[in-house]
Amino acid sequence: MITAQDKSSRARAGELRLGHGVVQTPDFMPVGTNATVKSLDPEELKALGAQIILANTYHLYLRPGHERVQRFGGLHEFMQWDRPILTDSGGFQVVSLGPLMRINEEGAKFSSHLDGSMHLFTPERSIEVQQALGPDIAVAFDQPVMPEGSTDREVRRAMDRTHRWAVRSLRAHSRPGQALFGIAQGGINPELRAESATYIRSLPFDGINLGGLAGDETPEQRNTAIDATVTALEGDLRVRYLMGLGSPVDLLEAVLRGVDLFDSVLPARVARNGQAWVTGGRLNLRNARHLDEQEPVDAQCDCSTCRRFSRAYLAHLFRAEELLAYRLLTIHNLRHMSAFMGEVRRAIASGTLAAELPRLRAAAGGPGTPRLGAGDEPGAVPERGAMQPRYAAAGRLRGAQQKRAVASEDKE
Ligand SMILES: [Zn+2]
Repeated sequence: MITAQDKSSRARAGELRLGHGVVQTPDFMPVGTNATVKSLDPEELKALGAQIILANTYHLYLRPGHERVQRFGGLHEFMQWDRPILTDSGGFQVVSLGPLMRINEEGAKFSSHLDGSMHLFTPERSIEVQQALGPDIAVAFDQPVMPEGSTDREVRRAMDRTHRWAVRSLRAHSRPGQALFGIAQGGINPELRAESATYIRSLPFDGINLGGLAGDETPEQRNTAIDATVTALEGDLRVRYLMGLGSPVDLLEAVLRGVDLFDSVLPARVARNGQAWVTGGRLNLRNARHLDEQEPVDAQCDCSTCRRFSRAYLAHLFRAEELLAYRLLTIHNLRHMSAFMGEVRRAIASGTLAAELPRLRAAAGGPGTPRLGAGDEPGAVPERGAMQPRYAAAGRLRGAQQKRAVASEDKE
């Protein structure tokens, strides 16, 4: 449900009413791959303002197994999180397995990165697993492709198959009270994007995902793809979710183009490497100059880390490789994302987005998603594809290297 439409852009604010609560959009979802947002307790997640989290169908299917989660009362009960949950369909992870995966019209056959056992994921199977896991939102099974590295013919084939799988996902879905989102694909080709969005829009999904982005495309290619998709969705009031995008500046630009929902491992992943996202830029807390700084990570932040601890303490914890370092900085980075999206929502709702845009852009800090291990300077140009290393890796790595990449993602 859309509650406010910005007059200067396509940005909109809305409410997503779900079984476990209402999600105010636009919003960013922290990722809890293995039914945990790494190192954080559900109470900490609530305190930093997380309205909804994402859990990963592929990983939970393999371990601990969706049937076990179901026996323990479903994901909410199992992980003691009583706010909304979205599960992805597993399509992305399966396709990312590259040589470990064979795909045909029926589905995708793959060998587990954990023990090499063979599995078949079909649209019906993905929906069955998600119904057992019991999130508030399930997602249709799709076939993503690399945005940049694929020919139009490959993109079209995967898109047409994604459309057929969307219909099969809808037919298979029967869990009452669980929303089902469909995925529009089309790579970076605006005609294919429009065609896919038009088709997915015609189906009775509860929300529409923009798939196959946040990978190896340039920001310009991404913006073109978003614009083509959103133009084809004009007048459609369902929530629009761009999968995998994760930095404040990228989110702001996508919101201005009419996207409502996002997820990424990035804020938590860079936190574990010592990178803090702060108002107007970022800091590397492994840098020695922070060892003598009394001020908090971000004086403008209200998170439990910034209210209590100095940069000096965090810099010390990172140098000593203390576990608390990862937790404290993950709390801060996720609070930073949550607070930033809250600011954007407020500006849209109060009709002041255009006036506040220069300030919001400055607060977002720089032209793009910071890359892992980047320095302290705001505005450093990110490497392409750095926002989602696993996606950039798909199709490029081979054999054992690919296995390692997937296994390390599992740790994410
Ligand atoms: Zn903070």
